[in-house]
Amino acid sequence: KLTNETAKAELGRASWKLFHTILARYPETPTTQEQGTLSSYIHLFSQVYPCGQCAEHFQFLLEEFPPQTGSRKTAAMWGCHVHNQVNKRLGKAIYDCGNILKEYDCGCGDKPLADSS
Ligand code: FAD
Repeated sequence: KLTNETAKAELGRASWKLFHTILARYPETPTTQEQGTLSSYIHLFSQVYPCGQCAEHFQFLLEEFPPQTGSRKTAAMWGCHVHNQVNKRLGKAIYDCGNILKEYDCGCGDKPLADSS
């Protein structure tokens, strides 16, 4: 059985992976609606995140650093920045955001499934 700390760390790694991958797949030139969707997703994510203490800290971070939804690049850089804020608080190394889009390329192509027919 996992200890609580191990489970919390595994949840964190899985969550960050999805989080950064979503941002790296976000449209390069999003519509107003897509910007609203991403912003809602991030705020809702911060409210349902299963580690309560983490969720609370993340909600404060979102107040200080509101999601940047203007483009794929700004969204991905914002995500990298807020993860680095968490890294800093936990005493972890700061991550280099320079290659963020390449590092989180999911290999899924650039069109959503619904448009690919
Ligand atoms: P993680 O931080 O999980 O990172 C996983 C991998 O992502 C790294 O190995 C690296 O390859 C890459 N990476 C690292 N930094 C970045 C970056 N800035 N941008 C892009 N990629 C990066 N844990 C707590 O104990 N207390 C908390 O309050 C807490 N709050 C959290 C809030 C959120 C929203 C999330 C998703 C997780 C939180 N966690 C918290 C978990 C914590 O952030 C780590 O996920 C966990 O400690 C495991 O750390 P790790 O060293 O394996 O790397």
